[in-house]
This record gives sequence, C-alpha cells and structure tokens, in this order.
Amino acid sequence: MVRELDAVERIGVVGAGTMGSGIAQVAATSGYDVVMRDVEEAFVESGFESIENSLGRLVDRGSIDEEEADAVVDRIEGTTDLAALSDCDLVVEAVVEDMDVKQDVFADLDGAVDRDVLLGTNTSTLSVTTIASATDHPDRVVGLHFMNPVPVMEGVEVVVGEKSSDGAVELAHAFAEDLGKETWEADDKPGFVTNRILMPWINEGIRAFDEGVATKADIDRGMKLGTNVPMGPLELADHVGLDVCLHASETLHEELGDRYKPAYLLKRKVDAGDLGKKTGTGFYEYD
Ligand code: NAD
Repeated sequence: MVRELDAVERIGVVGAGTMGSGIAQVAATSGYDVVMRDVEEAFVESGFESIENSLGRLVDRGSIDEEEADAVVDRIEGTTDLAALSDCDLVVEAVVEDMDVKQDVFADLDGAVDRDVLLGTNTSTLSVTTIASATDHPDRVVGLHFMNPVPVMEGVEVVVGEKSSDGAVELAHAFAEDLGKETWEADDKPGFVTNRILMPWINEGIRAFDEGVATKADIDRGMKLGTNVPMGPLELADHVGLDVCLHASETLHEELGDRYKPAYLLKRKVDAGDLGKKTGTGFYEYD
C-alpha cells in the first residue's frame, strides 16, 4: 500500500543534477515542500543554481514574478543527509544511470522512509524491476520518467515494474498530473516507449551523416521539415549529451541485440570528449 495523493505534501528528490533539480523545481512550483538530496554540498548548491537560473528565465519572460520565484526556492531544502528524507511522503530518485548506484540508493531509501511511501525512479533505460529488487518492498517502486528539461517538457512516462502495485502506479500518474504533466504508461521493457524508439532514430541519423547521405544540417532539416519534429537527430543528440546517448544505446544493445548497436561515430565522439552542448562541441559547435 502507498499513501494517497491527498496525504502527499513533502517530496524527496535524490540527486540534484540536471533531472533532480528540475523535478525539485516543478514539485516546489506546484506547492509541495521538497527535500533535495545529493552526496556532496557542492552538488546540492549546483542544483539550486540550476533552479534559480531556470526560475530567473521565467521571471524575465513575465511568466512568474520574483516573489513567486523566491517562494519556490524557499520550499526546497537542500541536504546531503539521508535522514532528512524521513518525513517525505513520496520520493523520486534521479541519480546517475548506473544500476549499482541506483540499487544502493533504493536499499537505503527502504530503511529511511515509511513503508507506504512511493519510491519512483527516473531511470531512462535501466530495469525498474531490477532496481526495485534491492528493496524489501518492490511493490512501491515505479518508474517516474521525467523528460529533459523537466520544467518545460509536458510528459512523464510511468513505468510499471514486475512487482509495482496498482496503487503505486495510480499514485505515480496522479502525482505527475498534479505537477501539470501528462502521462503515459509503459511496461518495464528496455528503453520503455521513449528511448526504445528515440535511440535507434538518433543512431540512424548519426550513421546517415557518417555514411555521407547528407550534411548534418540537412539531416536535421530534413527530419524537422519532413516529419514535423522540433529537433533533428544530431541536434537532439547534442542536446541530450552524446555520452548519455551512448550509454542508453549500449544498454539497449545489450538487452535487445544488434538492431540497437550504437553508431561508430557516436562512440568515436564520446572517446574524443566531444559530448555535445555541455562540452561546447558535439556534432555542432556551441558558445
Ligand atoms: P546528473 O549526472 O546531472 O545528476 C546525477 C546526480 O546524482 C549528481 O548530482 C550526483 O552527484 C548524484 N548522485 C550520485 N549518487 C548519488 C547518491 N547515492 N545519492 C544522491 N545523489 C547521488 O544526471 P541526470 O542527467 O540528472 O540523470 C539522472 C537520472 O535521470 C538518470 O537515471 C538518467 O538516465 C535519467 N534521465 C536523464 C535525462 C537527461 O536528459 N539528462 C532525461 C531523462 C531521464
């Protein structure tokens, strides 16, 4: 059994990186009290910096005023202490995409929060069932897969693990909807809906470029104008991070076989340290 949405007031977010800080921001914006936990104070601070920058853009655009932005930040408590999560009514994990790290986090959470607290994982490609197996209560674990950037993207993928209870799945949908998101549901199969389809698309874009089908700009233009998507595959790969794309592709390749093999050029770029927007060079150059 997990507690109902009415009883959910305080949200725990584990990991204050790109996704964790975004999740903390949208939860606090919706009026929840939030505890955002990372392993080092510097990571917690950098999470707050991202939140303040993101809210600052909303203030500049006139979407919210400064008082509202300050109130959102005030509702978020940063910490490195696991015990600070003990009063949370729902926890979302957004730590690095590594099964061992995630399993350690879930084993710790099992002892740190009450039995009826939903534990969501933001994993992009790892098995929710395997993550949940690190706990004594896998029925309360579900995938709550937010999209990047969390404050902007409207969708959340709810992933149903082998042992996820109906109540946990229902609460995951209700919570995401309460944050103003729309949801869809996927079974716990590699890559779920989004990355199972997105990663081969990105890899095929990279192969098309590597094999000289068109210039990178024309591959992106072709897909945008020809299929009405907002970004082409190479642009999107840079935006997501080439290392993240490679890691997700390797997981899918391992689980689903050769049709998911990462493109050679993707590996070569990651080896060279060209990871996309975040390093200033990917398929394109960034300031
Ligand atoms: P990130 O590297 O930006 O942040 C991860 C954070 O987790 C880091 O600050 C790290 O210090 C922290 N961390 C590591 N171990 C921890 C622990 N034991 N306790 C608390 N914090 C810990 O990563 P991200 O891009 O935010 O990704 C987080 C998760 O979200 C991953 O599972 C990823 O696959 C998924 N995801 C990422 C994206 C994306 O586009 N970045 C999109 C959807 C889902």
